[in-house]
Amino acid sequence: MMSMENKTQSNDLYWRSLEQKEGEKSSMDFLHREFPEGASELSSPVSRRTFVQLMGASAGLAGMVACRMPKEKIVPYVKSPEHLVPGKPKYYATAMTLGTQSYGLLVESNNGRPTKIEGNPKHPSSLGATNSFAQASILSLYDPSRSKQPKKDQVEQTWETFASEWETLCAQAKKNQGAKIAILSQTYASPSLDHHRDVFLAAYPKASWVFFDGGEQSNESAALTHRSGGSLRTYLNLSKAQVVLSLESDFLGKDVDSVRHTKEFSKNRKIESTKDSMNRLYVVEQSYSLTGANADHRLPVPSSHIYDVLVTVAQQLNRLGASVASLPKAKANKTEYQQSWISECAADLWAHRGQSLITVGKHQPKEVHALAAAINMSLGNQNKTVFYYKTLGHESSVMDLHALSEKLQAGQIDTLVILGGNPVFEAPTRLNLASLISTIANTIHFSHQCNETTKVCHWHLPQSHELESWGDVTNVDGTRSLIQPLIQPLFQTKSRLEMWALLSSNQLRSGYDLLTAFANQHGPSQNFWRKSLIEGVYNTGILPPMTPEVAGFPKVEPMEGIVVRFEHSSATFDGRFAENTWLQEAPDPMTKVSWENPALISPTMAKDLGVKNGQWISLETDHGQIEIPVWIMPGHARNSITVHLGYGREVANQNTKGVGFNVFPLRSLTSMNLTQVKNIKALSKVTTIASTQNHGSMEGRPLVRENTLEEFRKHPEFAKEAVEHPPLKSLWKEHAYEDGYQWGMSIDLTSCTGCNACTVACQSENNIPVVGKEQVINGREMNWIRIDRYFNGPEEDPMVVHQPVACVHCENAPCEQVCPVNATVHDDEGLNTMVYNRCIGTRYCSNNCPYKVRRFNFFNYTKDTPELMKMANNPDVTIRFRGVMEKCTYCVQRIAGAKQTAKIEDRKVVDGEITTACQQVCPADAIVFGDLSDPNSRVSKRKKLEQDYEMLAELNIKPRTSYLAQLRNPNPKMPSAGGQA
Ligand code: SF4
Repeated sequence: MMSMENKTQSNDLYWRSLEQKEGEKSSMDFLHREFPEGASELSSPVSRRTFVQLMGASAGLAGMVACRMPKEKIVPYVKSPEHLVPGKPKYYATAMTLGTQSYGLLVESNNGRPTKIEGNPKHPSSLGATNSFAQASILSLYDPSRSKQPKKDQVEQTWETFASEWETLCAQAKKNQGAKIAILSQTYASPSLDHHRDVFLAAYPKASWVFFDGGEQSNESAALTHRSGGSLRTYLNLSKAQVVLSLESDFLGKDVDSVRHTKEFSKNRKIESTKDSMNRLYVVEQSYSLTGANADHRLPVPSSHIYDVLVTVAQQLNRLGASVASLPKAKANKTEYQQSWISECAADLWAHRGQSLITVGKHQPKEVHALAAAINMSLGNQNKTVFYYKTLGHESSVMDLHALSEKLQAGQIDTLVILGGNPVFEAPTRLNLASLISTIANTIHFSHQCNETTKVCHWHLPQSHELESWGDVTNVDGTRSLIQPLIQPLFQTKSRLEMWALLSSNQLRSGYDLLTAFANQHGPSQNFWRKSLIEGVYNTGILPPMTPEVAGFPKVEPMEGIVVRFEHSSATFDGRFAENTWLQEAPDPMTKVSWENPALISPTMAKDLGVKNGQWISLETDHGQIEIPVWIMPGHARNSITVHLGYGREVANQNTKGVGFNVFPLRSLTSMNLTQVKNIKALSKVTTIASTQNHGSMEGRPLVRENTLEEFRKHPEFAKEAVEHPPLKSLWKEHAYEDGYQWGMSIDLTSCTGCNACTVACQSENNIPVVGKEQVINGREMNWIRIDRYFNGPEEDPMVVHQPVACVHCENAPCEQVCPVNATVHDDEGLNTMVYNRCIGTRYCSNNCPYKVRRFNFFNYTKDTPELMKMANNPDVTIRFRGVMEKCTYCVQRIAGAKQTAKIEDRKVVDGEITTACQQVCPADAIVFGDLSDPNSRVSKRKKLEQDYEMLAELNIKPRTSYLAQLRNPNPKMPSAGGQA
C-alpha cells in the first residue's frame, strides 16, 4: 500500500484511468467534449434504431406524440378499494431470492402497482438495506419481453392443455416409477418447494432431480462436513471482527450476503472522534473487487495461487503458536515483499485471536475452504466471528448435470423438465446439452424469458415474477420469510410454488391455497402466519452452530502460465439479470464499464501482449476458444485474466441480444471457476468500450481526502486544511433564510464501499431513463448519482477510493447564476430546484456546475417507453422530456410527503423521518440526510466531525452536501506496495 503522507496535499496522486495518469490526449479530449454545445441530434440512424430497441419500443404501444406533454385521461374509481387513499402508497413485506440466498423486502405499492423496493429492517439479510439486484428487480416485473403465455412448439397454449399433457406423461411414468423423468432445476432454499419436490419424488422414486446454476460454483460445502453427516456453510459475523483476511471473498461486493456483511463491517469503520478505533482489512485477490477497494492492505496474486498464500499464512501462524496440523509445503517463489506481507498479516491475525476471521471466495477449491476453517478454529474465531451452519437448500452441481447428460445420451430419459435458468447457454460446451435435449421426446422449460434453452424445448411455460408470487424461503441462518405478491400476475404465468405443485400433484392450484395449506400442515399457527405477512419474517437465527470436520490438506500445485477466472458480474450476476437495463447501464464499480464484459488484464500483461483498451484478443483454453476485447485494470494480478459471466446471448430479447461476449465456452466440468490458458494472441481489431471512468472529471481538482487513522489522530483537521485558499469573498448576496428546515447531506467515504446500490435506487425512485451503450460512450448517461472511482499508487498495485457525487445543492449555486430563464432556482429550505417547464435547454447550468452532476435529456428517452414499463414509474416524480436539464433533488417528493404528514399531525418533521432513496438503500449507512437548522440532527452532528470537508469549498459555492474523509487503518509494520511477482 502507498504511504498516505501528504496525500491530501496533492490531487495528482489520484487518477481515474491509465490514460489520465499518463496525461494522454484521449482523456483530455473527452473532458473537453463532455459538455459541448449543439450536440442534440443523434449522430447516426443506427444509434436511433438501437435506442428505440433498447426501450423495448413498439409503435403500437407507445404514445408516439410530437408534443412535449402527452394528453392522458384520468379515470376515477367507480368503487374505490377499501383502505386505499389516492396518492398514499402502501408498503408490504415480502422476500426475494437469489439462488439459496434471500433478502427481506418492504415494497412500496401505488394504487396496486409495486414501484419501489426497500430492505426490511427485521430481516437478517437485509437489515433495512438492499443491493442493486433487489433494487432493479422491479424493472424485471414490468419488462415487456417477459414470457406471457404457455407455448408448445411456438404455438400459444393454455396451462390447462399443459396440465392435461403432463397428466398423460405422469400416467406413463408411473409404470417405471418415473425412471425416464428428469428435472433440472435452479437452486433454491424453500420449505414449501421442497415439500412438493418430496411429494414428486415419493410418487416417482426413480426420477432424477438435478440442481444447476451457471455461475461460479461453490466448493464450500464439499470442504466443510459435519461428523453427523451433511455439509456446512460459513456464516460471518463481521461486527465482531477486528482483523479480517479475505482470500478472493468479495464479501462487500458480489457475495450474495453482501448487504448484511456491509452493515456489519461498516459499523466498525465509523469514526466520530480521534479516540475511536476501526477494524483492519487484508485482501488477497486476482481481480480488483469492491472488497479489495475497501482494504487497508491488498495483495494482487492470481486466483490459482490463493491456496499457496493461505498455506504460508498457516505456517507463519504455527510459528507464532497456532496448531494447524498436516500442512503441505508452501512454494518458495514469493518475493520478499509478498513474504513480508503475509508474515505481518499473520502476526496481526494472531494478535487478534478470537476477534479476527479469514474468509474465502466460494469459487475457491475445497482445500482452501478447509484450511481457512482450520485456521479460524485455531485462532479461536469459531462461534465468535465465524459460525458454521448446516447447509440449507440445494446447491448447484455440475457433476450431477454431467451425470444427467450421460443419461440423456444413453436414451434413458424421455421427459425433461427444466425449471428456470438457461442451462443450454451456461453448461460446459462439452456436455452438448442443446443437441441432447433436442433428441428428447418431451421437453419443458419453465422460465421468465425465452432463451437458448427455450429454443430447444417443446414446451415453454412462463414463470411469474416474485412480486406476483406466493412462496417461502429459508435464509442461510435458518430465518424463514414469506414471499407475498404485490400484484396479480400480469400475464398467463405461474409461480414456482404453483409449478412445483403442478409437477407433483397435477393440480392447477393458486399459490395462496398451496402456501396456506403447507403452512397449516407444516408451519406455525394462523396468527403467526398473519404476523409473518406483516413483518416479513417467521423466526430469526434458529440454527444451532456446528463444528466442521477438517481433514489434512493436500499439496496442490498452482496452475502454471496464464489462468482465466470466471466471475459473477455486477450487472448480470450469473446471467439471470442480463435483461435488466438498469443493471446493464450501471457502470461496474471497479472497471466503470457498462453494457459489456471485456476481459480484464493487468497493465504489465497488456504491455507484454502489446494491446490497448478495447483491442481484441483470441483466448483459447483446453475446452474452447473465444475472441474478446480487453480492459486494462490497474491492480489486476499479472499472468491472469478475469472474465464476467452472463453476457453474449444470442437468443434473447432486444435489450440483451448481442450485449457483451459469451465466455462460457472456455469452461469445462472440472474448471467452472478457473482454468489455464492454452493460447493467447492479440488481434488488430479495436472497439470502443462504454466506460464512464473519465466522465464528470473535475480537471484535477482535489476532491478526495484520505488519510490513515494514525495521521488523523495527529491532524484531525487534515481534510479541511488540504486546500489552501485566500479568504473567500462573494459577489452574491447570502440567501436570507427565514425560520424553517434547511436540508443537507453528509457522505462518509470511509463507510461507502462504492457498491452502486444508491445509483440504481435513485434511478428507480426518480424515473431516470436508460440511454444505452452508444449514449454512454458519448457521456450522456442520465444517472443522478454517479460513483467516482479513483486510483492512487503504482498502476500494478494501486489503492482505490470511491466517492458518490450528486448535486450538492450549493448555496451560491453557479448553475442558478447562468440560467437565462430561472429554470433552476433556490428555495426557502436551501434546495437547488429545477422548474422543468421553464427549462429551454441552454445547458449553461451544466457547463457552469463544477461538480458536473447535471444531466441533459438529449432525446425524448421516455417517449417510446412501453405502457408496461411505465408502471414502474414513481407517481410522485415528473417524467422529463427532451431538451430538459435534470439532476438530484434530494428526493424532494419525499421531503414534501413528510412535511405534509407533519402538518396534518400538527408537528415538525422529526430527524430521520425523511430518508433519501440513496440513503435508504445504502447498506453501509454512509449517507445521512436531514435538517441543518436542527443542531441535534444526525446530519448536523456529522458535519461537526473533524474529518468533515466540503468538496471544492475553495470556490465559495457552499455545498449543502459535505463528505467525511476516507480513513484507513494500515498496519504500520507492513512493507510498501509494489511487490507483484
Ligand atoms: Fe447547481 Fe451543480 Fe451546485 Fe447542484 S452541484 S447546485 S447543479 S452548481
